[in-house]
Amino acid sequence: MLKILYTHAEMFAARAAMQGTIGFVPTMGFLHQGHLSLVRKALDENDHAIVSIFVNPTQFGPAEDLSKYPRDLERDLAMISELGNVLVWIPDAKEMYPDNFQTWVEVESLTKPLEGEMRPGHFRGVTTVVAKLFNAVQPSKAYFGQKDFQQAAVIGQMARDLSYPTKIVVCPTMREADGLAMSSRNSYLNPQERAAAPVLWQALQAAVEAYAKGERDARVLVSDIENRINHEPLAKIQYVRCSDALTLADVEGDLRGPAVISLAVFFGATRLIDNISLG
Ligand code: AMP
Repeated sequence: MLKILYTHAEMFAARAAMQGTIGFVPTMGFLHQGHLSLVRKALDENDHAIVSIFVNPTQFGPAEDLSKYPRDLERDLAMISELGNVLVWIPDAKEMYPDNFQTWVEVESLTKPLEGEMRPGHFRGVTTVVAKLFNAVQPSKAYFGQKDFQQAAVIGQMARDLSYPTKIVVCPTMREADGLAMSSRNSYLNPQERAAAPVLWQALQAAVEAYAKGERDARVLVSDIENRINHEPLAKIQYVRCSDALTLADVEGDLRGPAVISLAVFFGATRLIDNISLG
């Protein structure tokens, strides 16, 4: 059974009437099995599950895909309702950003590299909206996907710094059978691009294998991934980086501790991201 709420007033009232633990999954909708894996975990681990659906305008850059972002609320609600009793909060932009809105939440170092470098202002939009969602939902645990690993790290930092009592849980990336990381943006790919896109996962897997065989030079791992992706004519690399898993600082020499290799690659106008953890 679903309960659907729209305004902050409705959300506050529903929350005040709830007892026990709350698992929360913030989303931008157009749901797929990756999102649903988070909702299942929230249901498993808590007395109540709350999902928000909000395409957050402030995390899109001026030249990005806000107006084209895929939406299908009816389908989203049908998918969630199959999982059990879930409260779905669907605020609109006016509800989140009333006239004369002027307060922002910003995490510093962790938002500088990678997605933060390529998408200026993106994380400021993310942390501001997630802080507002957390304030209303007051979750015991909130669930995020490893696919957006920098986002999960930034939210974890925000939760610690602002003393939210919420535990941030990071869940594995769900993939299609051919390895492509599930994403709402995969719906933008034409059939040729869709057929080419698994090269990202294949290249990352080759790095995992090289690492398992003892390769520790980050430059070798990164350039091998770049070569494999450059073999695919429809793929245009924006970045492939190896980063310290905790600080997200670039690793350019030997890997000494846990690291993440992440990438952003264009297929036509569609920008896909993916990553793998090493160590
Ligand atoms: P989004 O709707 O894209 O903002 O994503 C909402 C949440 O789902 C974020 O925490 C994402 O990291 C997570 N997510 C997106 N894709 C996947 C996936 N393929 N596997 C697991 N989690 C995902």
